[in-house]
Amino acid sequence: MSDLFKSMPLISPVLAPASFPRLDDLEKDEISSNLLEELPKVECIARARIPTTQGPEIFLHLYSNNVDNKEHLAIVFGEDIRSRTLYKQRPDDTQDDRMTRGAYIGKLFPGRKSADLDPKSGKELKFSSNGELILDENTHTSPTIVRIHSECYTGETAWSARCDCGEQFDEAGRLMGLDGHGCIVYLRQEGRGIGLGEKLKAYNLQDLGADTVQANLLLRHPADKRSFSLATSILMDLNLVEVKLLTNNPDKIVAVEGKNKEIKVLERVAMVPLAWQDKEGIESKEVEGYLRTKIEKMGHLLQKPINIGAK
Ligand SMILES: [Zn+2]
Repeated sequence: MSDLFKSMPLISPVLAPASFPRLDDLEKDEISSNLLEELPKVECIARARIPTTQGPEIFLHLYSNNVDNKEHLAIVFGEDIRSRTLYKQRPDDTQDDRMTRGAYIGKLFPGRKSADLDPKSGKELKFSSNGELILDENTHTSPTIVRIHSECYTGETAWSARCDCGEQFDEAGRLMGLDGHGCIVYLRQEGRGIGLGEKLKAYNLQDLGADTVQANLLLRHPADKRSFSLATSILMDLNLVEVKLLTNNPDKIVAVEGKNKEIKVLERVAMVPLAWQDKEGIESKEVEGYLRTKIEKMGHLLQKPINIGAK
């Protein structure tokens, strides 16, 4: 840290720690406290087919839950990955209701009358006596590539080179498109959970010499405030209980598995966005610093040295 930065007044009047906490201790504490005793209850409100500019069609699932009032999402590759709560028959449910909320099989077309029966393929959804979708060959339940992604407005929308979120997101989509099945659980926890306003302040502290972890600590936020219990619940709702997790973050494996190992991570698939695999590497000093912090302070499993072209 630069001397200039050391002499800066702290943002809040709370006494500063004599030194920064050891990051590995901090990380462990957070993950265990972030694992909720009881998994959040989630309900899929709507599902819609989205043709994409990249080729594959995706099915966007929107969720409500009982722990926050944010609209968390699942970006699903594969028509046959089905949400229990969305497909479950509801009192007075009509076929039109079911098609409108996205609880149908196959593809919608003008004039379609039945959600549960696809007239083109003849495939039909079956339900138990209490209205639960029966998991048969029409519903995908085998091991699936999964990515847990936290919203990053700056990296995904504002072309920020301060982090690698946009690239990781693109790479996850590319791999799932190739596979034909996959799910990106998209959690609304901006800036490692501190929110966009605080994240922007953290960026200013970084410009003053702090790294990503130090900046969060100076703002009195833990280095990583995210919770992944919602992701565990959403994966269970989608019947994706055996997953191949796309991540470089070992803490995420523990977090997404849940306290009672509700989800089984069969395999960890390393995330190596295409731009990093390139000989020239990516041209950004900011990303280099960000990645170095991820590796050195947050225990990420990226190979070091990373092939980055920035000078
Ligand atoms: Zn980001």
